[in-house]
Order: sequence, then C-alpha cells, then structure tokens
Amino acid sequence: MAMRWEQLAKRQPVVAKMLQSALEKGRISHAYLFEGQRGTGKKAASLLLAKRLFCLSPIGVSPCLECRNCRRIDSGNHPDVRVIGPDGGSIKKEQIEWLQQEFSKTAVESDKKMYIVEYADQMTTSAANSLLKFLEEPHPGTVAVLLTEQYHRLLETIVSRCQVLSFRPLSPVELAQELVEEHVPLPLALLAAHLTNSFEEALALAQDSWFAEARTLVLQWYEMLGKPKLHLLFFIHDRLFPHFLESHQLDLGLDLLLYLYRDLLHIQAGQMDGVLYRDQLDRLQRWALACPQRRIVAGMEAILQAKTRLNTTNMSTALLVEQLVLQLKR
Ligand SMILES: [Zn+2]
Repeated sequence: MAMRWEQLAKRQPVVAKMLQSALEKGRISHAYLFEGQRGTGKKAASLLLAKRLFCLSPIGVSPCLECRNCRRIDSGNHPDVRVIGPDGGSIKKEQIEWLQQEFSKTAVESDKKMYIVEYADQMTTSAANSLLKFLEEPHPGTVAVLLTEQYHRLLETIVSRCQVLSFRPLSPVELAQELVEEHVPLPLALLAAHLTNSFEEALALAQDSWFAEARTLVLQWYEMLGKPKLHLLFFIHDRLFPHFLESHQLDLGLDLLLYLYRDLLHIQAGQMDGVLYRDQLDRLQRWALACPQRRIVAGMEAILQAKTRLNTTNMSTALLVEQLVLQLKR
C-alpha cells in the first residue's frame, strides 16, 4: 500500500519533517541511509520520496499518486528507479556493477535517477566497495537510498557518505497494526506486539499455533482458579504442563497471564483501549466485576515473583506453578 506524508509523519515525525524540508528547499541529498527495525516504514518512505521526485504533477511536497510515473514506481516498473536487494542471502558485486552500468547511461525519461538498496548491510565486501566508489562519484541528479535494520554492520566509509535518517521503533499498538496487515488476527497481534518489540519475532510468535493455544490455555487457567482445588491441580498437570514444558515457554505463559490480570485492572478503570484480550471482553468484564482490585494487584505481584524465581533459581517448574496457583486461587 502506498504511503502518504500524513502516515509517515504519524509514524516517523522526525524523518518526515527532514525529507519534506529538503524537498521544499530543493536540497535532496545524493545519498540517504534509512536505518531502523523492520516494519518501521523505511521502504515505503523511500518510495514516497521516489514518487515525489518523479511525479508528473506533484502538489507541494506530495506526489499525485495517480500519474504514470507514480503508478510505475508503485509497481516497480519505472526505468529510472531501481530497487535491489539480497540475491540468495547477500547483495553481490555484480548487482552493484549492474546498477553502475544502468546509471552511467543517461536517464531514460528525465535527468533524474534513483536507486534503493534494501538490506544494504547484506552486501558482500566487494559489493560494498563497489558501492562506495559509486557513492564517492555521484552522478548529478542521482539519489541513492540505502535501507538497513543493522546499520552498524555497514562500512563506516559508506555511512559517512550518506545522510542517516533513523526510523524509531514502533509502539506495541503500531506493531500490532503491522502484524494485522500481515493477516495476523488482532487478538494474537496485540499480545505478540506486547511480548516483543521486534517485528520478526512478533510475527513468528503470532503465526505459531503453539502461541494461539497458549493464549487459550491461559484464559482457561484463569477460569480454573475459581474451581475446586482438585480440579485446578488436575488442569495444570493435564493441560498446562504439557504445553509449557520448557522454562522459556512457561515464562511466556506467565507473561500472558500477567496481561490478563492487567486487562482486568484496565476494565475496572474503564480503560478499554488498553485491553489486550479484546475478543474476550464479556468474560473479562464478568471476572473484573467479581474480583476486588487489591486481589488483582496481589495476583500480578505473585506472577512477577514466579517469573523471577523461574529465571533465577533451579526450582522445578511444576512446584513453581503449583505454588503460584494456590496463591492466585480465589
Ligand atoms: Zn504522480
């Protein structure tokens, strides 16, 4: 989906302002380095810049998004806008040489050319050296945009020739939106985005059926806390332990339980926007109504203590969970 300035300004206000101001003053650099985590909008921003530079009827700093050039850039078919990226794990010298050849010809349709290098940190050493030469002798009218998630891996000599624009990490809510765009259901996206701030980790987690099952089990876990002790112990041995066998899995399970308790606090405070188990609102509202706030807070403290014990002692996970559920039991 094509990005507009309004969207970029919302996600990356500093980057948007710097690029807009450069466009207004006609001072676009010959080389940019966009650095930041995946999902922060680097590629979309580079294409927005490309469209504005090549658009046939721009409006101020905005491309029209409708002309032939805007459309060809969106579909990757503009002869003067080239995008390259890793080919089988790395960006090879031949790819950079191909770019150089393309750019030594005059521009096909105007006096401008632009190239975008995705995952620029994955250039082989010889590719990086070729690119460096290319950056050192810029052709007039040429704009380079390098994109990277790991800019400390790039040659310093390359970085120093670029204007570096840093894309800030996404907030959990923004990350969840990115996951939803990758077809992750919202309830899983919200939880995954709170468990990690890495787009890739969150996506892998949310796409793992283990995670969806873990979420279901944690909801049952809370429900079982109101049942007789024998049923509760049977549930944890029969259902919980087999699923949260490894300690890192249990750690994640405890996080999921902690978020459930936090949701109850949010509901009691009327802060529905903060609720992560959003699709379970009816149930959660019943639970929130039935549980005094001090018990919720005490429950969260007990879960945090269990997490600490899990990560700092050799206590068996079975014993740890048994102790915890007896503390949490209503
Ligand atoms: Zn246009």
